[in-house]
Amino acid sequence: MLPGMKTACVLLMVVAWPGAVAVWAQEGAAGVERLVQDAAVKAALAAVTRNEPQIIEEQVRLCEIPAPPFKEMDRGAAYKQAFEALGLKNVRTDAVGNVLGERPGLAARPQLVFSAHLDTVFPEETDVRTSRSGSIIKGPGIGDDCRGLAVVLGVIRAMNDAGVQTPGTITFVGTVGEEGLGDLRGVKHLFGTELKGRVDRFVSVDGTGLGITHIAVGSHRYRVAFKGPGGHSYGAFGIANPVHALGRAIGRIADFQVPREPKTTFNVGRIGGGTSVNSIAFEAWMEVDMRSADAAALTALDANFQKALDVALAEENERWGNRGRLELERTLVGDRPAGRMAASSPIVVTAVSVTRALGLPVTLDEGSTDSNIPINLGIPAVTIDGGGRGEGAHSLGESFDTTNSSQGTARALLLAIALAR
Ligand SMILES: [Zn+2]
Repeated sequence: MLPGMKTACVLLMVVAWPGAVAVWAQEGAAGVERLVQDAAVKAALAAVTRNEPQIIEEQVRLCEIPAPPFKEMDRGAAYKQAFEALGLKNVRTDAVGNVLGERPGLAARPQLVFSAHLDTVFPEETDVRTSRSGSIIKGPGIGDDCRGLAVVLGVIRAMNDAGVQTPGTITFVGTVGEEGLGDLRGVKHLFGTELKGRVDRFVSVDGTGLGITHIAVGSHRYRVAFKGPGGHSYGAFGIANPVHALGRAIGRIADFQVPREPKTTFNVGRIGGGTSVNSIAFEAWMEVDMRSADAAALTALDANFQKALDVALAEENERWGNRGRLELERTLVGDRPAGRMAASSPIVVTAVSVTRALGLPVTLDEGSTDSNIPINLGIPAVTIDGGGRGEGAHSLGESFDTTNSSQGTARALLLAIALAR
């Protein structure tokens, strides 16, 4: 880029954005370099590294409190207590179950929301006890997102230990409903109601590793049910069969062709229906997930999906001359908007600079996270990994390797401080 163009870009930001944000945007990498030389910031970085064993303990403690989809309240209550113990102000649980606490800056704005998600993908009866062997901790949810929850607490504690005073205010949040059919309900409520119009920047700490997610992969999720009268498998034979219709639909979906770039995916994740082997089912259902980082590709895939359903329904009904005619119910149960923060946007530049300043590798990622909502609203947002190494996220065999995990905590801390200016 020509130097003249660069100046023009900075000027544009100054004109288009409110004052505080413009200053922050101009600082870029140089600002982060200066920040790491600050005595209080240095002390905070030392504290966060020193505190890592405690952060890992908290990760384990939180992980052993079940937080199934739509039932995050027990873990939420523990998180609220932790916020209170760390001296956050105005600690509260909002109408949907998000847990919030403020660390006031010199001014109310800019306001940074720094968050992790409370919920897991695991059903209520899952054994969430953890086990540890050397540097490896095993347990469902240990990385996604107990790591993020613990890192957020570690960031608060280190800032307190070092007496870091930020110009802007940080609201720390444990969100509900990030996973699966939760459909980002926590973060949707945060931006739509609880903190509407008052969030200037947003960070979610989610999972393990050191990546920076700046591309929001959108998704459409459906629950689909084929329904008919059903009957005896022998006595009522000759009527349309919901399970067979479902099979026809899945057969078509399984053959979908999708672009590799932008990455676009589809998955029939759950199926069900029927009452016994010798009954024609009165219902057969499936849950389907489709994703793309590109809104147009997602729309096209969705259109193909609707067509596959319609064709499957028509074929099954025609096969039996419309005897026991089936009906189709389709419900959109998940709608996550796609979008992206440009690699050159101030928040991504800051996240990259902070990572580099600590001598860590930079990886820019895409994903479907709490940041989808602010990114879609045009509010600067990134999702960062919480450090360490994770395997088997969303599986019962999930594990977390604590080797050098303090790198992730230190990066999160520095990013929080850098964005609260
Ligand atoms: Zn997660």
